[in-house]
This record gives sequence, structure tokens and C-alpha cells, in this order.
Amino acid sequence: MRYHSTRGGVEPVAFRQAVMMGLADDGGLLIPERIPDARDRMDAWRKLSYIDLATEVMRLYIDDIPDDELAALVEQSYRGRFPGGVAPTVPVGPLHILELFHGPTLAFKDVALQFLGNLFEHILAEDGGELNILAATSGDTGSAAIHGVRGRERIRIFVMHPHGRVSPIQERQMTTVLDANVHNLALEGSFDDTQRILKAVAGDLAFKRRHSLGAVNSVNWARVLAQIVYYIHASLSVTAATGAPGVRFSVPTGNFGDILAGWYAMRMGAPIRRLVLATNRNDILARFFKTGEYSVGEVHGTLSPSMDIQVASNFERYLYYRLGEDAEALRDAMDHFAGGGGISVPPESGVVDTAFRAGAATEEETLETIARIHRDYAYILDPHTAVGVCVAEKLQGESAPTVCLATAHPAKFPDAVRRATGRDGLAWHKRIAELENLETRSTLLPATVDAVRDYIVAALAEVRA
Ligand SMILES: *Cc1c(COP(=O)(O)O)cnc(C)c1O
Repeated sequence: MRYHSTRGGVEPVAFRQAVMMGLADDGGLLIPERIPDARDRMDAWRKLSYIDLATEVMRLYIDDIPDDELAALVEQSYRGRFPGGVAPTVPVGPLHILELFHGPTLAFKDVALQFLGNLFEHILAEDGGELNILAATSGDTGSAAIHGVRGRERIRIFVMHPHGRVSPIQERQMTTVLDANVHNLALEGSFDDTQRILKAVAGDLAFKRRHSLGAVNSVNWARVLAQIVYYIHASLSVTAATGAPGVRFSVPTGNFGDILAGWYAMRMGAPIRRLVLATNRNDILARFFKTGEYSVGEVHGTLSPSMDIQVASNFERYLYYRLGEDAEALRDAMDHFAGGGGISVPPESGVVDTAFRAGAATEEETLETIARIHRDYAYILDPHTAVGVCVAEKLQGESAPTVCLATAHPAKFPDAVRRATGRDGLAWHKRIAELENLETRSTLLPATVDAVRDYIVAALAEVRA
């Protein structure tokens, strides 16, 4: 399988190159040259364990890693790393909750980043070389990335967070990792400052090349690929358990990376009837699927901060298919968008895409959903998952069983749970509680490009000495 750019400016590359490239060199996103049709395999796949299914699904997209090595990578990523299971589905009243939060940082991003860490190390070990990852985080991605690459020999990670402006739990999930290859940089500035610095440092191509700088952001194809697996796994197990021909997934959405994986699973032939796209007040994507208009608004802070996004980086992949796989049309649309304009895809007979339905949840609705699900079923939702449950309930009227993705463990967001239920201590997890007593390490730096660049150069010189 070869990968090409949505913008058409890159010679097709093999999977391993696509992984190491991350963002395509022409500024586009890498996509597989075709989507494998796996309709005929679904019955056989129903009998597989999560790990075996992951290997089978990934094999269809990867032909430059031998089968036994790929199986070992999958095994290493998931066996023993997710104590409650990688992606178990639990019934909660009429809903099926797909719990994706059993990994090291208790958020769904672990499913992809555990695999990506192993994949990077495997490719670097064979091809030689090293990778220095620079990331900026307002919370979840940074810690999941750190836990994906901690302790690796050929990888160093530098994660910038705005000092004092991420939640204490999220900060501790990052700064309690003491491995020598992990560098937490607390910048004296805002999240926007960290992003500005990331762009400046990563945009300096000479510096980037000299120091083998890479990224782990959600545009990496391997992250989407790892996420396709749980949509297939859950749709097969819920259709088997209920006898229904297909399921409806509800997905709390920010950067469109997670729900895009669901769309690929659907196109591959998994028994999926519909994808419900759920956003908080930052509803650019929900508006698109209702009207066909994609235009940016202002970012608002909410109870579900990992979805406080206006420009969804993975949306470009979907838009490419929606525009008839026409790289030129896509390029024009993205240029227009970058210039401050909107993108318009006219709905056909009233709907933009029958695969999707979309909606948004307000802050009040999010809290009300947490309270009600707790009262009725003694199950605690985190605020991101609550957005998905709320929107799924608002958009009823289909007979397919509803599978709601639980993207974070509620113990990561105790304040929201307290506000919703009026009770303390409901959202508890041993691993979060234990963070209190662990040693931390981070470096406080001024929020300037030079300070970050100097830090990286000095740290790498030390490694090489
Ligand atoms: C990142 C994240 C999301 C949004 O996922 P996207 O792939 O960006 O759409 C939702 N919930 C939680 C808890 C997250 O960390």
C-alpha cells in the first residue's frame, strides 16, 4: 500500500515513510491510495481477540513490515498495557459505552500513541537514526505522547505546556515521568505561546533537519489506523450481542481524528449504520454536517477542553474524499480557508453526507447528562463522553444500537463530576490518586523561541557527549 498527499504534491511513499513524515511535505495529509474492502472478512474477524484483529486490520494498510514483526509490535503495544482491556464495551441502560480509557494516561489517545511509540522505535532501529519529538499541549495529548515514548533509546520528547495553566492532574501525568528521554518544559506564557513557539521551531527546516525533529500530532496516519481497529471490534461485538445488522457510533469530536477512523471502518465494510459527530460549544464541525458550510469561529473554553478546537486538523482527509478525491479542488479549498474564507460543500437532497449526523451539547446539557446517567445507572461519564451521550440522545430516531465512545476516565475531570453530581470522590482512579505522592521534574523557561531552541540544543549535546 502506498500513501499520497491530499494536496497531490508528494510522490507516493510506503507506510514507513508516511509514518516518519507525519504531515506531508507539501502541507497536506497522507492517505492510503485506496481503502481496502474487508466486507468478506467481517464474519471471520468477529472471532478474533482485540490484538489479533488489530494485526489483521493493520496488515491491509502495511506491506513494508513483515507480518510477524507487525504482530509483535501490536502485542507489545496492547498486551498488559491496558489493564481493563483495550476497548471493552459495557452496557449502560440502553447505551453501549465503548471504554477507551484503560491505557497509561486514562484517555483514548493512548490506544494510538502506545502503538506509534513502538512503531517509531522499530523503524528507527532498522533504518538507523533518531527522532526528537517537539510537542505543545494544553493537556491530554502531551501526556499520552510522553507515555508512548518514555524510556526509548532512539527517541527524545520535549513537551511544552503553559506553566500553571493546565489542570493539576494533567500536569502531574506529564511531570511525574522521570525517564531521561522525557523533557517537560513549563513555559511562562499561554497555550497560544507554546503553539507559536512550536510553529517557529518546527518551521525552521534547517534546525529541524539538523536535530531530527518530528511531531506526534493527530495527523499521523498511524494514529488513525490504530483507531480504525476499535470501531471494527466494537461494531462486530455489539451486532453479535444484539442481533442488529449495524450500530450507530457517537463520537466526542475535536480534531476529527477519532471519528475519521470510524468513517474508514465504515468504508471498509464494518457493520456501522451511522456516525454521530458530537461537539461542545465549539461546533464548527457540527455546523458543517448540518449546512455544508465550514467556517471558523472563536474558540471557547468548556468543561470538555480536549474538544475546544476550531480548526480540525484531520478534517482535510475527509474533505478530500468529499470533493471527489480531487487534490486540486482540495488545495483550492484549503487555500481559500487559510486566507480567512469558508469552505462550502452543497448538501445533496438536504444532507451533507448520510453517513453522519451531528449536534452540539451546551455546558448545562453536559452536566445534566453526567448527573442523570449517574442517577439512573450508577455509571460516571467524563465531560467529553457526556457530550457524546447527550448528542446521541438528542438525535434519536434510528433503530440501530448506540455505541458511545468514552474518551477519558472521569477521574481526570473530578471538578466537572463534582459540579454535576454535587458529590466529591465519585470520580476516582488509583493511578490518578497515586500521582499526588510522586516526584516531579520540569524546567521552567521563558516563553520565547530562543529559550526553547537553546534548551533542545543543550539537551541533545548532553546526550551525544
Ligand atoms: C483528543 C480528545 C477528544 C477529541 O478527539 P479528536 O480525535 O481530536 O476528535 C475527545 N475526548 C478526549 C478526552 C480527548 O482527549
